[in-house]
Amino acid sequence: MTHASPTPTKKYDLNFARWVYENVDGGDRMALCMQCGTCSGSCPVGQQMDYGPRKLFMMIRAGLKEEVLKSNTLWNCVSCYNCVVRCPRKVPVTYILHDLATVAVREGYAEAKESDNSRFAKAFWWSAAKYGRTDERLVTALYYFSFGMGEGYKRGMANMPIAMGMVKTKRMHLGMPHKCKNTGELKKILAKAAEIEARSHAGGAGNANPAGGTAGHDK
Ligand code: SF4
Ligand code: SF4
Repeated sequence: MTHASPTPTKKYDLNFARWVYENVDGGDRMALCMQCGTCSGSCPVGQQMDYGPRKLFMMIRAGLKEEVLKSNTLWNCVSCYNCVVRCPRKVPVTYILHDLATVAVREGYAEAKESDNSRFAKAFWWSAAKYGRTDERLVTALYYFSFGMGEGYKRGMANMPIAMGMVKTKRMHLGMPHKCKNTGELKKILAKAAEIEARSHAGGAGNANPAGGTAGHDK
């Protein structure tokens, strides 16, 4: 595995497909995709994606690294596994999308066009890593304020009646966040996982930076 920074002068990078086959979780089975479109046709959120999984896989084969890693497809997948269950070639579509999202963050593509879902995922992860639980108040606040102070305040105020209703019906508590029993152990586990991840991803995802070339939004 080799790491290489994106090179903006190169439109297509055929190494990208090979890199995905060899390094992305489930990527080896992506080579078996026969472009039948069952995954995209089965996806409940396909309309909310820049590209459906079928098209995304074709774009990977074409070496459109930047468009793939910047697409909201990686973030809008809701892990329902419809595509995995129905794929005639047993391609683990969900795992591939999730691992590509990790690559997108690692190589800075997710920052370039931060989607609502990546903002939310960051807030969710912060709470899960700190407390071993997700605190809906903190996650929501972090997410809202990721859009800026003014926007965070506006969104918070707009949702205040919902929050009060949840408190009243005991669906949300006031006071300190709930924690898992041993956050010290959790931190050690996460540090170890980060170490293993860094070791296994000492490389990167090829070296292409295709500019433009979006071929419509056929799913
Ligand atoms: S369902 Fe499977 S074989 Fe068909 S396009 Fe999707 S990933 Fe490829
Ligand atoms: S797992 Fe993701 S890509 Fe697959 S059908 Fe569900 S939302 Fe769509």
